[in-house]
Amino acid sequence: MPSQRLSLQNYVDGIRSGNRLTLSRAITLTESQLTSDKVLSEQLLNEISGEKKDAIRIAITGVPGVGKSTFIEAFGTLLTSQQKSVAVLSVDPTSQRSKGSIMGDKTRMDTLSYNPLAYVRPSPSSGSLGGVTDSTAETILLCEASGYEIIIVETVGVGQSETIVKEMVDFFLLLMLPGAGDELQGIKRGIMEMADLVAINKADENPLKAKQAQAEYRNALHLFPATESGWIPEVLTCSAIQQTGLLEIWQQIIDHEGQLKANGFWQRQRDEQQITWMHRYIKRQLLQKFYNHDAVKKAIITAESDIQVGKTLPITAAKKLLNIQSEKFEGNS
Ligand code: GDP
Repeated sequence: MPSQRLSLQNYVDGIRSGNRLTLSRAITLTESQLTSDKVLSEQLLNEISGEKKDAIRIAITGVPGVGKSTFIEAFGTLLTSQQKSVAVLSVDPTSQRSKGSIMGDKTRMDTLSYNPLAYVRPSPSSGSLGGVTDSTAETILLCEASGYEIIIVETVGVGQSETIVKEMVDFFLLLMLPGAGDELQGIKRGIMEMADLVAINKADENPLKAKQAQAEYRNALHLFPATESGWIPEVLTCSAIQQTGLLEIWQQIIDHEGQLKANGFWQRQRDEQQITWMHRYIKRQLLQKFYNHDAVKKAIITAESDIQVGKTLPITAAKKLLNIQSEKFEGNS
C-alpha cells in the first residue's frame, strides 16, 4: 500500500466530517490504477454510499472559451453566498490541448478554490475525456458524502464526454455564445437535445445578439421531441463576468428539481443511472482484460498487419482474437 494512504476508517471519518484534505486523498485513491487502491476505494464507497444525501448534481458544458470556468466561479460564489456548499469537478486546463500554453498557465476558479464553502477538484489530464474520467461517478459520491449540497461537473463540449456525464447528473446546463450558429460552435444537435437549460453567456458583449440567439435556440428546442420527464428546457441569457442572469439559472434548477421530484422522475433517473454505471464498469473491465491479455497483445500485431495487406477480413481477425481470450477464460475456470 502506498505510504500516503490512510486506513479505511480514517477515510470514512474524514469524509463524514467534511475534511477537504481527506476528500482529496480519497478522490486520488479512486483515480488510482493500483489493485490495492481499487480494493480500498471500493470498500470506502460501500461504507459511505449507504447514507442518504440530497445533493443536486449539475453538468455544465460548452465549447472552450464559452466561459465555463468564469461562469462556474460566479455561479459557485452566488450559491455559497446563500450558504450552500458547492463541489466542482473541473477540467484540468493542461488537458485542454486546443488552448495551448495560455490556458495551462492560468489558474482557473481561483476565488472559488479559496472559498470555505467550496471545493474545486480538477480532473487529471490522463484518462480524461473532456473532463469526465473513469472515476467521476465515484468522485461525485465522495463529494456528496463530504456534505456538499451542489455538485458541478464541468466538461468541454466535444460530444462523448457529455453523453457520459449526462448519465451521472440530475441537470444538464449547456452554455452557448451569442452570434454564432450551432455549427460554428461545434455543438452537435445531440448535445442540445440533452440540455435541461441552455444559457447564452457573454450577453454583456452584445445584448441584442444574445436575445436573437435566445430566440433561435428556443425555436430549435421546440422542434425536439418532448422530454420523458415532462421538463421543458428553457433558453436564458447571462453574463458570467457581470454576474447577471445567474439567479434565473439557479431558479430553473430549483424548479426542475421540484417538478421531477413531484412526478417521480428524479429518483427514476438516478436508479437508471446506477444501472448504467454497472454496465459502464463491466464494459471497461472487459475491454481492459482483453487488451491486457498477453497472447491477445501479440496476436493483435499480426492481425493488424494481416488486415493491412488484405490477408484477412477485420471481422475474421476480431473473432480469432476474441477466441484467444475465451480459451484463456475457460482454461482458468
Ligand atoms: P472556458 O474555456 O469555457 O472555461 O472559458 P473561460 O471561462 O476561460 O472564458 C474564456 C474567455 O471569455 C475569458 O477571457 C473570459 O474572461 C471571457 N468571458 C467569460 N465569461 C464572459 C462573459 O460573461 N462576458 C464576457 N464579455 N467575457 C466573458
